[in-house]
Amino acid sequence: MVKTYLSYINGKWVKSSSGKTFGKINPATGQVIFHCQAGNGKDVNAAVEAAKAAFGKWKSFPPPEKGEILFMAAHILEKRKEELAVLLTKENGKNLEEARGEVQEAIDITKYVAGEGRRLLGETTTSELPDKFAMFVREPRGVVGVITPWNFPIAIPAWKIPAALVCGNTLVFKPSSDAPACGIELVRLLNEAGIPPGVLNLVTGSGAAVGEPLAKHKGIDHISFTGSTDVGTHLYVEGAKKLNSVELEMGGKNPQIVLKDADIDLAVDGALWGAFGTSGQRCTATSRIIVEKHVAKRFTEKFLKRVRRIKVGNGLGKGAVMGPIINAGQMTKILGYIDKGRKEGAKLLVGGHRLKDAEHKKGFFIAPTVFTGVTPGMTIAREEIFGPVVCIMEARDFEDAVRIANSVEYGLSWSIYTKDINKAMKAMRLAESGIVYINAPTIGAEVHLPFGGVKGTGNGGREAGTEAIKEFTGIKTVFIDYSGRLQRAQIDVD
Ligand code: NAP
Repeated sequence: MVKTYLSYINGKWVKSSSGKTFGKINPATGQVIFHCQAGNGKDVNAAVEAAKAAFGKWKSFPPPEKGEILFMAAHILEKRKEELAVLLTKENGKNLEEARGEVQEAIDITKYVAGEGRRLLGETTTSELPDKFAMFVREPRGVVGVITPWNFPIAIPAWKIPAALVCGNTLVFKPSSDAPACGIELVRLLNEAGIPPGVLNLVTGSGAAVGEPLAKHKGIDHISFTGSTDVGTHLYVEGAKKLNSVELEMGGKNPQIVLKDADIDLAVDGALWGAFGTSGQRCTATSRIIVEKHVAKRFTEKFLKRVRRIKVGNGLGKGAVMGPIINAGQMTKILGYIDKGRKEGAKLLVGGHRLKDAEHKKGFFIAPTVFTGVTPGMTIAREEIFGPVVCIMEARDFEDAVRIANSVEYGLSWSIYTKDINKAMKAMRLAESGIVYINAPTIGAEVHLPFGGVKGTGNGGREAGTEAIKEFTGIKTVFIDYSGRLQRAQIDVD
């Protein structure tokens, strides 16, 4: 008997009104590991109504008290860390070490925003008129719809939900159908920590059946979305129709530049982790390594030697560096990109195929794949592959490398390896991205710093750090006139 998870609406764990469930497969074994409610628009309506009804009371609850609940949630997360990491590996496939790191990220961000309950800073300022006080304060946006992807099934919900809660919003959360269990467990433990009924609601189900009605719902005031650029762009349009604020964190096509003066071994370490960590299924994954011509051969030889040693397998098994691809559809899509790369003239150096031996045949495993001879116009150099495929591209010099790095529609993460401080400083300025790493790989977010991208990656907002508070609050400007007379701005001034 496999477990069946329920949705959570108005403080109760409930079945979907559809009467249907869907099964979730462990991508390493092909086995169904649990079922979830296949929610629908009716469930979304009930969840939004509950969140609306709970809003007034939750808004007035003192933020430091909200923070105390979140500290308790972080404590429960800590206690359940190992169990959640195992669940994460089973539903997502990433290895246990990475899964532990992801749960730790959820703990860190929950603690960080819990502390924000004692700040939620506005600003006081001067007035142009005498005996008048001026300030702005932060207010919750209202009912927030949270829609998340499968690649960080606990960290991404944790980046959004605690921050939205501490700011005084109430929520309806739809996790990805490809990895919903960690999100469900996060909701469970937040409620256990003391979040009142109706404040945080959860509806599982597909993007079409749950995400779409959630984003279109008139009772939703703000959407916080992480996922693909196609879906995010669509949600932006839907939000605009209702004049909602919509925060989007979307795809990437991240470059790692290696200049001729770089520490090549360090650059190889970075490229391996950046390209093949989480099987390349990170928005910040390194998908293009842009190497100055002079050192391309040396870098490529050292890199390939290490890539060939990467152990691919069930993330719960011993020594597996790279786990499976999330599902059969995504695996087919990645193999399609590999095929396109070959046809467009890139040279396949290693990998490029599904692993079908006894250890791997039941899961969705692709060998770590490296192309060389890739030029900026090729599909594999432009589109997000979201898998263990990396392109090595040669650049003439620093300027050429920067031009290639910036030649894509995305702008999330950007890395450069060099010992030349002048070039590092210039790169920092020239990078068309939300995040820049100098002598470090394209992956490695920390929760107290803003996270997000430019161009096709985002629409200006940022997650994490103090920026998260901005995402989930609006501003109210307040004037207090204690002069006892009518004072007209811009007119009654000397
Ligand atoms: P996705 O297909 O866009 O799905 C993301 C979420 O949106 C899922 O919960 C999905 O539901 C839901 N959804 C799909 N269609 C919808 C619709 N019409 N209306 C409302 N919701 C809808 O992305 P994914 O495959 O899960 O995740 C991979 C993508 O996320 C990559 O592009 C990656 O770069 C990006 N990502 C970005 C960041 C960042 O911070 N920039 C971080 C992580 C991932 P179902 O899947 O349940 O149908």
